[in-house]
Amino acid sequence: MRNQLFIDGKWQEPVEPGRIPVFEPYRGTAYHEVAAGGPADVDKAVAAAKAAFPAWRDAGGRERARYLAAIAEKLQDRAEELARLSSRNNGKPLGEARIDMADAAACFAYYAEQAIALQNRQDADVALPDDGFHARLRQEPAGVASLIVPWNFPLVTTSWKVAPALAAGCTVVLKPSEITPIVELELGAIAEEIGLPPGVLNIVTGTGERVGTPMTAHPDVAKISFTGSNAVGARVMAAGAPGVKSVSLELGGKSPIVVFANADFDEAVECVLGGIFFNAGQMCSATSRLLVEKSIALKLIDAIIAGSQALKPGDPLDEGTQIGPITMKAQHDKVLAYIERGKAEGLSLLTGGGKPAGLDGWFIEPTIFGDVPTTSALWREEIFGPVLCIRTFETEEEAIALANDCDFGLVATVVSGDEAQANRVANAIEAGHVWINSPQAIFVQTSWGGFKASGIGRELGPWGMSSYLEVKHVTSRLKR
Ligand code: NAD
Repeated sequence: MRNQLFIDGKWQEPVEPGRIPVFEPYRGTAYHEVAAGGPADVDKAVAAAKAAFPAWRDAGGRERARYLAAIAEKLQDRAEELARLSSRNNGKPLGEARIDMADAAACFAYYAEQAIALQNRQDADVALPDDGFHARLRQEPAGVASLIVPWNFPLVTTSWKVAPALAAGCTVVLKPSEITPIVELELGAIAEEIGLPPGVLNIVTGTGERVGTPMTAHPDVAKISFTGSNAVGARVMAAGAPGVKSVSLELGGKSPIVVFANADFDEAVECVLGGIFFNAGQMCSATSRLLVEKSIALKLIDAIIAGSQALKPGDPLDEGTQIGPITMKAQHDKVLAYIERGKAEGLSLLTGGGKPAGLDGWFIEPTIFGDVPTTSALWREEIFGPVLCIRTFETEEEAIALANDCDFGLVATVVSGDEAQANRVANAIEAGHVWINSPQAIFVQTSWGGFKASGIGRELGPWGMSSYLEVKHVTSRLKR
């Protein structure tokens, strides 16, 4: 396992010596250490990215696509090994980590295509109403991009940023989460292996304070893309403000899943369980508020209680494990504090709330609270763990109003047997992505990002690359 910084194409020790322990959440013990980068390392990484930028920008989309496709291929070739590294460090079941690695490879392959498309449309003519003029459209990379990611989907969130940034022609300084740096460092190894020009991708591990803050304030950084909590997102935005940097934010969620009485029952159970207990609920897109039509509420709640109790906890690296531990101790404690708060508020705890027997790591049982008032902190705040809150509704209008009564607007799921109703409700919900009768299928061609406090901008699809591009028009007066 790697443990150094990757700057200017070379593995190196931090300027100020220091190490950060890396934990295995299944055991709750440290098993590795990585370099604790600091401001001087950020300076080196930004300088390397700045020096590499002109050549990378001028290489053109087709040339950049060759590198992106090569990264995609390496990610595919090494998928099983990388999934194991990620599963151990993050705690997610191996099967989920395999999905992550496939997602990361697909993302690089997609943005290889987008890089070619960018070059093909460069300098396109713009139709003007005056034939005395000619205008052409260019889209040019913003410059050095600072990319900051959290710990819940290692390599996925990273690929969603690194691939479009490189495709656009930006050079990159990446800060993995200090909690899950292991698999992200392998991206440096892949860059080295495929001969990515030095400085195009730099990886600086370390804390938010010592690495994240200088990355967001640095005068030579043109673009910041951040995924993480709202509190830190606001600080990132403030740090970028004096330099008027372009900032993209992918933040939290408290998303609804709306189940109508006419829904396919088994499909509804599958969508509810997957929406909150996948990745032990540590998903910005967790559908942590279940709104169920009153007439089927008792039956559905019984089924999801049974389904949640049947999820097998265990070593994430065991093929049979269905739910892993919480990735970090602080998050584990935060989730338990919310559960205690729910109990103190007198909420109806339907199942879970404790630690599964016989396991040492940071496990929390799948937990469900019924009939949660909309004023409860558990209904309104992002918990980021395996905790589901339920309310019932009687009319479609009531369901929509409850779904939208939220500070966030990242995603939603609608489960209904009536196609027109499902689409009506999907259109009415304030969220960046709505699934109908579907688990959370994410295609790189569709966008990711939220309304309201869930963020600014969109990742994935053409929008993902646009956020690293500046638009330039060149208008000439033609000879008279
Ligand atoms: P976090 O905000 O604590 O940390 C995210 C990253 O920011 C980490 O790499 C951290 O080291 C860094 N950081 C911390 N302080 C910083 C600072 N002052 N300046 C710059 N960087 C700093 O978030 P987390 O706990 O790692 O992740 C959980 C949060 O992420 C949840 O709120 C979740 O909803 C959100 N999230 C959102 C999405 C999305 O796509 N919308 C995806 C995954 C996670």
